[in-house]
Amino acid sequence: MEERQNLKENSKILVDVKHLKKYFQYGKNAVNKAVDDVSFFIREGETLGLVGESGCGKTTTGRTVIGMYSATEGEVLYNGQNVHKLTGHEKKEFTKDVQVIFQDPYASLNPRMTVTDIVAEGIDIHGLYKGAERMEKVYEYLHLVGLSKEHGSRFPHEFSGGQRQRIGIARALAIEPKFIMCDEPISALDVSIQAQVVNLLIKLQREMGLTYLFIAHDLSMVKHISDRVAVMYLGCMAELTSSYELYANPLHPYTKALLSAIPIPDPNIERTRHRIMLEGDVPSAINPPPGCRFKSRCKYAKPICGQEMPPLKEVEKDHFVACHLY
Ligand code: SF4
Repeated sequence: MEERQNLKENSKILVDVKHLKKYFQYGKNAVNKAVDDVSFFIREGETLGLVGESGCGKTTTGRTVIGMYSATEGEVLYNGQNVHKLTGHEKKEFTKDVQVIFQDPYASLNPRMTVTDIVAEGIDIHGLYKGAERMEKVYEYLHLVGLSKEHGSRFPHEFSGGQRQRIGIARALAIEPKFIMCDEPISALDVSIQAQVVNLLIKLQREMGLTYLFIAHDLSMVKHISDRVAVMYLGCMAELTSSYELYANPLHPYTKALLSAIPIPDPNIERTRHRIMLEGDVPSAINPPPGCRFKSRCKYAKPICGQEMPPLKEVEKDHFVACHLY
């Protein structure tokens, strides 16, 4: 495991996000600063977990990273090339390299298509294989995700939620991508199925050398799949470090609150664990007030927190936090 970690640390940077902003204008005076100066990178073969409550901008960040949304400011480099300036052959290569696994396995599969046609959709679009070879590839990827050849002739409604997500994963893999944005891929599934899907993604990453951006709204499952974890709050990055460090030594008050909400099955730990309750909902990202975005819910807030936005800075080796306490 340690050897593998070192391998990843020496890998090249595949995705490099620099000061990314994505604003949505509403009418004349209202601006939703959904993503507001976010920077991170993802190494080849690595999983970066991107976590935060609903509305924090994590999905908008993911969609801007893969070029589904244009960037208001900043840039996203994939293999050194600006994702938002790709044209022609380079753009086609990028759309083949990058795939998405969606949150809702019910909504993301066309109910009128057979599983074979769903999985082969990307193969057909990119003209990768035809005839018998095409079918062989479909069966290969169904097998990889734990389904069988016989499932190919059925329709999505004949499957459980977990099986549908496996079909969605097979569809994403079928064009042999390098980078997959997993957009809350387990949120709609039963807890008992979530671990199966996460383990499948880990297995496939090892076998195929995939790179993941794994988006989730809580920290419980993210630990098992992520090498590093980025915590977002209201469009900004709150904390970014290795998965181990984040769980062992969280620094940002928001991260501490998120971690305290994870149920711990060990009764001895449960007795000593202190649950930090966050009051209220996430404030709106529309015309946010100056200063730290977390100040209205932070018990450590001090005068400077209302005046200056804390920058994300490295306070320990490879441990970045945006908070005036550090
Ligand atoms: Fe709390 Fe201030 Fe740190 Fe924001 S900057 S998290 S308000 S202490």
